[in-house]
Amino acid sequence: MTYERDNIAGMKGYTSGEQPNDPDTVKLNTNENPWPASPAVDAVLAGIDRTDLRRYPPPLANEFRDRAADYHRLARDNFIATRGGDELLRLVITTFVDPGEVIAMTDPTYSLYPVLAKVQDASTFTVPLAEDWSIPADFAEKVNAAGAKLTLVVNPHAPSGKLVGADWLRELALSLDGLLLVDEAYVDFIDPGIDYDATSLVRELNNVILLRTLSKGYSLAGLRFGYGIASPELIAPMLGKTRDSYNLDYISQKIAAAALGDIIWARDTWQKVREERARLFTRLSRLGLEVLPSQANFLLARVPAELGEAQAVYEALKRAGILVRYFDQPRLEDKLRISIGTPAENDRLLAELSVCFSA
Ligand SMILES: *Cc1c(COP(=O)(O)O)cnc(C)c1O
Repeated sequence: MTYERDNIAGMKGYTSGEQPNDPDTVKLNTNENPWPASPAVDAVLAGIDRTDLRRYPPPLANEFRDRAADYHRLARDNFIATRGGDELLRLVITTFVDPGEVIAMTDPTYSLYPVLAKVQDASTFTVPLAEDWSIPADFAEKVNAAGAKLTLVVNPHAPSGKLVGADWLRELALSLDGLLLVDEAYVDFIDPGIDYDATSLVRELNNVILLRTLSKGYSLAGLRFGYGIASPELIAPMLGKTRDSYNLDYISQKIAAAALGDIIWARDTWQKVREERARLFTRLSRLGLEVLPSQANFLLARVPAELGEAQAVYEALKRAGILVRYFDQPRLEDKLRISIGTPAENDRLLAELSVCFSA
């Protein structure tokens, strides 16, 4: 006898990447930014007084929303601040999708999506990505035929790092009968030479929601802060009805506003990650791995059979104190997802891999 709702009793929870306590571990498994957040965050922390915590925090995080509005050249009403991007996903699903309705996604995708769909007792409709990890041309048609109320697309894609253009997303949004959420968790790491900006879609279309997070680009995964960008009509019900009344604490709001305010610092970390991404791409390829070009802060690398099994390589690295991500699922079981670390961390990975492959 269980008191859980049937859909909760029957579901599996989200499996987080390992978070080791050993400070010597080279941690390349959960796509954190290897560089620290802006020193403006230190100044905020030093300035926090315990009496600041006596009162409830600003309910709507308006200081942060105004910073975000400046940065994206939109209005405050286009933004909702959330406890990580993950809270935005939950709010979008509980606000716009009834139990029993359909949520569409690609396969593979961010593994939290089906978990959140289950919690809402919504059904999941998946469309396999093409061989080259692109979204099939008939995606919208299939999603509409399945009657999807909401479609979740991660761009750049996780775990492949592949990017689709904003024009392609615009066509997709125009073709869909339902809502489109574009999960831009890794958007900051796109090469600046690629002219990608999906915020124009929000100005133009009433069925597009963009997800942003401070976890990756702003080196603040431990803070839990993200935000949504959409038309005021889509933002309003989440902001005014389904959101927890004080979803973001006072300290997080201050830190997030400071981090977004020091874009020069953040941009510098993005550039360093891109440089290491290019170097690691070359070096891993030279070791014999088949690496996909990536616009995110990780690389997906296939371990060819002659070099061994991906899972065995994952385990050998782990014994050597280097954590990468292994997914035991179709299309990924022969691959490793490697977050871009500092040059020293990446060098340790490369050294250990050459030991591994010469054995
Ligand atoms: C990291 C990530 C998020 C958001 O993570 P938060 O830490 O909750 O902000 C959303 N989608 C994808 C694909 C991610 O990798």
